[in-house]
Amino acid sequence: MTRRETPCLVLATGNPGKVVELRELLQNVDVELATAAALGLRLPPDEPYATFHKNAVHKALFVAVQTSHLVLGEDSGLEVDALGGKPGVLSKRFSGPQGDAQANNAKLLHELRGVPWPQRQARFRCELALAKGNEILFKAGGVCEGFIAEVPRGDGGFGYDPLFFLSAHRLTMAELSSDEKNRISHRARALEKARAFIRQYV
Ligand code: IMP
Repeated sequence: MTRRETPCLVLATGNPGKVVELRELLQNVDVELATAAALGLRLPPDEPYATFHKNAVHKALFVAVQTSHLVLGEDSGLEVDALGGKPGVLSKRFSGPQGDAQANNAKLLHELRGVPWPQRQARFRCELALAKGNEILFKAGGVCEGFIAEVPRGDGGFGYDPLFFLSAHRLTMAELSSDEKNRISHRARALEKARAFIRQYV
């Protein structure tokens, strides 16, 4: 009798915070997860395109042509209305190429100094793309609305989470448990749409 191998979904990201969340969000899907790095696959250079959607598609295809597995490309970031949508696709490198989250948060607070509360509206945005070979099979997006706090709070999550205030919870994203973040986050909302496709595909 031949043993059926568990199908593998490759995560085309090198961001450890995202890998943790994607693993949690996909724990009910019967698929083995592997990072591109764990399989020795190359990742593309950081965000060459001007939209999350194009970058997600690019990440997925860049990795998918190197493997026979299904690949998940994900691009996400923060859009702040008072900054005309910045940092946007450059969220990771807002304060410089090293991608230091603390420096990014400090720069964000600096750019928003004096901006009153109602104008500190912001959102996290996530775009996902699933690819096999040189073909995109599924795409989905998710958004989570909030405000940029005046001081960082909490030590959960990653990136801009300590500054991302959720009015409904009266807490920053970094003060939520990982379960709570995974119920409401931009990534959770995008993945919710993709979960059925992944289940069916594998
Ligand atoms: P990239 O998609 O790998 O370029 O990284 C996106 C960047 O956006 C991260 O490095 C964070 O700065 C920010 N970001 C994306 N999602 C989140 C999140 O869930 N919480 C906090 N910051 C995030």
